[in-house]
Amino acid sequence: MFLLLCGTVILLASCSVTPYSDSEFMMDTQCVITVYKKSDLEKLDAVFEALRDFEKKTDRYEEGSEVSLINRYAGISPVRVSEDVFSLIAKAKEMCSFTCGAFNPLLGRISDMWNFNSSDHHIPSSAELACIVLAASDISSLVLDEEKLTVYLASDSLSLDLGGIAKGYASTLAASMLENMGIERAIINLGGNVYAVGSRSPSEGWRIGLQDPQGGGGSYFTVVNACDEAVVTSGAYQRYFISDGVAYHHILDPSTGYPADSDLESVSVISSDGTLADALSTALFVMGSVKAESFCSLHGIKAVLLSESGEISYIGFDSAES
Ligand code: ADP
Ligand code: MG
Repeated sequence: MFLLLCGTVILLASCSVTPYSDSEFMMDTQCVITVYKKSDLEKLDAVFEALRDFEKKTDRYEEGSEVSLINRYAGISPVRVSEDVFSLIAKAKEMCSFTCGAFNPLLGRISDMWNFNSSDHHIPSSAELACIVLAASDISSLVLDEEKLTVYLASDSLSLDLGGIAKGYASTLAASMLENMGIERAIINLGGNVYAVGSRSPSEGWRIGLQDPQGGGGSYFTVVNACDEAVVTSGAYQRYFISDGVAYHHILDPSTGYPADSDLESVSVISSDGTLADALSTALFVMGSVKAESFCSLHGIKAVLLSESGEISYIGFDSAES
């Protein structure tokens, strides 16, 4: 069995504004952009085109994409990339250090072994995983040259996977395009990576419901406010397969190569930096509730943690908000 739920975030309807939406399936998810002036709708074509272009460069399964070239030349030679791909990869490397390896963009080979993206799943043995887990634990194998805009994977057993960060970067890219076009209010939803542009009204932020993992597509367990901010959710319930009664989900613990044995059901991060929010939602899930809570408190990260037992922790919120 294979499930992919995209609507992790529910945008709560408001009677004060009329939404106009356009959507396209890309980045392996349904991408929806909603604006609140009819005349803004036609401007979205350029944004979707930029997102398609970004996907073409970062999709590691697309032959000839910049990321697939980096992977093909692993252990052979550096690959020159475009500026936005370089800055995304630089951010991924930075997030790996920042999260002490809980977010690790070098797990491509391991994800491929599990084969989450097809119905032909495989449960690798720890012996199969050990060598790659060890190689991936050294983030200095991801060699970046800012002057030449090149990326080099120093070991041929590594493969770059930006699946845990690319949609966050894309949402920020789309948000800045909309702002440059003079669009003051919009919601970008790239399969649970939401960016709220502007606010619902001068006095109120956008109200975003976080999907209840136990409920149906339209149910939410809490609501957060966002204003020029990303709200990014990660959870084991989003993509998994079941074998012999055991669920194997797609968020991996970089220290084992197995699905993270987290006591969290979902993690949402709220930040003006969509790329950071995406990487952190994945990393906090891997950390589990105790580490995640102290990490957020230490670094001033705003997050909502939903534990398996149904407990909700609001970190970094004003008391009036939560
Ligand atoms: P989604 O992409 O489903 O919204 P996430 O942002 O949490 O969810 O990213 C999960 C994806 O990130 C996986 O499908 C895989 O490609 C990659 N990934 C899995 N585990 C990790 C990890 N520990 N660090 C970085 N990327 C990961
Ligand atoms: Mg993520």
